Amino acid sequence: MAWVTGHQLRFFNSLGRRLEDFTPSTDVVGLYSCGPTVYSYQHLGNMRPYVFADTLRRALRWKGIPVRAVINITDVGHAIADSDTGEDKLEVAAAKERRSVEEIAEFYAEDWLEAMAALNVQPADVYPRASDYVDQMIEFAKQLEDKGYTYQLPSGLYFDTSKSPGYGTLAMMDIAGQREGTRVEVVEGRKNKSDFALWRAEEPGVRRVMRWNSPWGWGAPGWHLECSVMSMTLLGEHFDIHTGGIDHRELHHVNEIAQSEAYLEDGRPWVRYWLHNEFILLDAQKIAKSAGHTLRLADLVESGYHPMAYRLFLLGGHYRSQLDFTTAAMDAVQKTLRRLIARIVPLRPLPHVETLTDALALLRHPGTADATAGGTVTREATEDKAALAYLDAIDAAIANDLATPKLLATLQDALGDADITTEGLKVVVAAADALLGLRLGDLGLSEVDQRRTAEDLDSEQVAAIERLIAERTQARKEKNWSRADQIRAELDALGVQVTDTPTGPTWQLR
Ligand SMILES: [Zn+2]
Repeated sequence: MAWVTGHQLRFFNSLGRRLEDFTPSTDVVGLYSCGPTVYSYQHLGNMRPYVFADTLRRALRWKGIPVRAVINITDVGHAIADSDTGEDKLEVAAAKERRSVEEIAEFYAEDWLEAMAALNVQPADVYPRASDYVDQMIEFAKQLEDKGYTYQLPSGLYFDTSKSPGYGTLAMMDIAGQREGTRVEVVEGRKNKSDFALWRAEEPGVRRVMRWNSPWGWGAPGWHLECSVMSMTLLGEHFDIHTGGIDHRELHHVNEIAQSEAYLEDGRPWVRYWLHNEFILLDAQKIAKSAGHTLRLADLVESGYHPMAYRLFLLGGHYRSQLDFTTAAMDAVQKTLRRLIARIVPLRPLPHVETLTDALALLRHPGTADATAGGTVTREATEDKAALAYLDAIDAAIANDLATPKLLATLQDALGDADITTEGLKVVVAAADALLGLRLGDLGLSEVDQRRTAEDLDSEQVAAIERLIAERTQARKEKNWSRADQIRAELDALGVQVTDTPTGPTWQLR
């Protein structure tokens, strides 16, 4: 009977690219998610990995599986363009903004944490900062060196990927071609193109701001090293789940696995399940920070969308599908959120539900109305069959590789069902929200409705909008239509409606 523990939890494991039953290997499941590099504002697209990881966490909690969640904050070592050489992203930003590296890191980390809270992402148990773990990283690299996995060049200490028999399995690299991989950057003396830096030595005559002494001279750790070291330190040498954006599947996670399995040398896979989320597309382009203007969650809020509407937008697509970010889509989810909340307000307060067990207990012993008075099942308990069926559908959806679109559809069905009891419906809504995290129990309608007008904008925001409009006018003059379209999309996302008139463009907020 599926009802005792519910449906078997199944995830799509990038390692092997197949759906697999999830079984915890420890009492507390270790969950590591690659976190932000805090040298600038985080783009909207960069919110998806954390809403996805949060959904995963909620699914595990739903099944009564305790989790320890770690999200790192990269405040050192991430070289520009994700390469192994060149300047550090943090140092570049600090120089540009004339602030110290620490100020930059703290400012943008704080901004990201605020966005996480606005999106109702549960806080991680630990947010390790890479800069706090450099000693351990040096020690880790030393051990790899002792075991013969590395070689030294003037530019640093490199991991020799030809010594790693399973190199590239996660990315399904073809074994013959893998070491001549596409991420080509020229590093003098490197044995294989896929070899990566464990330690990035200072170039002669260039003194880094963030620098540490090491057996390989002054410098900074390579970017991949931090995740292996911090995850093992905080979750144990082996742990169950590692998540990240799909771009990490091709390089960052490949390198994490290579160095970790070389370090452990125990013949076991370092991490059992690798889960990756797809990208958000803006005008069919991956939303990436390198694409120029950073579209932020704060921008959406400025334009009158509630952060929960963005969460709803994300959950409306399966995490392994690409999602098209458009104003029309945001308008639609904002409306849906409003309708949901308006429908649910009369049901409040919702009962407290975190797990399937909680929800079942509520349906079987519905509080004041004793369902089995005198040993006979009462009418009420019989009617809860509808609620039980919805609960089963919710459980089936989340267990099936976090099928949040199906879960949302089930919630809508339950809300529109005339045959479900009010008490049963309350439990179903609370159960759905334990997994969706849309704040269905407390989000106020007035909060959802908050829309700003141009009068609410400060002079800086107005200036930013007008700068974009001027840029668009210029792009059109130059017949650079793709740039003009891109700016139009950005303005659109800010809730700005531009009207072209004979005397030039005018604008208003939608
Ligand atoms: Zn990582």
